[in-house]
Amino acid sequence: MNLVLFGPPGVGKGTQGERFSSENSINHLAMGDILRAAVRDATKAGQQARTYMDSGKLVPDGVVVSMIEDRIVKDNTTGFLLDGFPRNVAQAISLDDMLAHHHLTLDKVVFMDAPEEDLLERLSGRLICRACGFGFHRHYSPPREAGRCDRCDGELYQREDDREEVIANRLHVYRDQTEPLLAYYKGRPGFIRLDASGEMQAVYTALKEAVRD
Ligand code: AMP
Repeated sequence: MNLVLFGPPGVGKGTQGERFSSENSINHLAMGDILRAAVRDATKAGQQARTYMDSGKLVPDGVVVSMIEDRIVKDNTTGFLLDGFPRNVAQAISLDDMLAHHHLTLDKVVFMDAPEEDLLERLSGRLICRACGFGFHRHYSPPREAGRCDRCDGELYQREDDREEVIANRLHVYRDQTEPLLAYYKGRPGFIRLDASGEMQAVYTALKEAVRD
């Protein structure tokens, strides 16, 4: 099964995508995580990406497209869930081209949405583990011990781009560049629109059911 999950920042793509991928034994390819790992490892792509990410802008298409193609091709025996890629129409066209080139297809494209006030609340309370990348939320899913990851005891931090000023910019970039993907994917077989405004478990159940249909 090959899927795309897209929607605004803070809608829960990462949380839902990680759980869905692990329960279905497919690769969770989260573009933001791949980029953050490249920044941390100071690779050439990571150095190119850093300033864009810190200010909430999209990293240039040429950088992200080749990174994701590497990951899709590396191990496509089990299927994949793309989270955070594509993020604009040019990337969606590149994705279609690269999949055709590798004789792969998309089974489902899931658009998740929630009201802006929910997105702001989710993003501003988000905490990430520096060691394993697992996500928490100050109010909705707090860690057992303040500042420490339940899974690996790593240190929790707030992403640079989850600061209020940067969040506003990310939402603007989303409306301007990512939302047009709706028109690109809407008429396709396998397109699903999912209301992601509820609590985490309810959204997950709806996601599973929608993908199964
Ligand atoms: P995320 O973790 O999905 O919120 O992504 C964090 C940041 O990584 C974004 O604000 C962008 O700067 C960058 N990024 C992630 N995915 C993409 C993409 N498909 N194209 C360009 N930039 C991206």
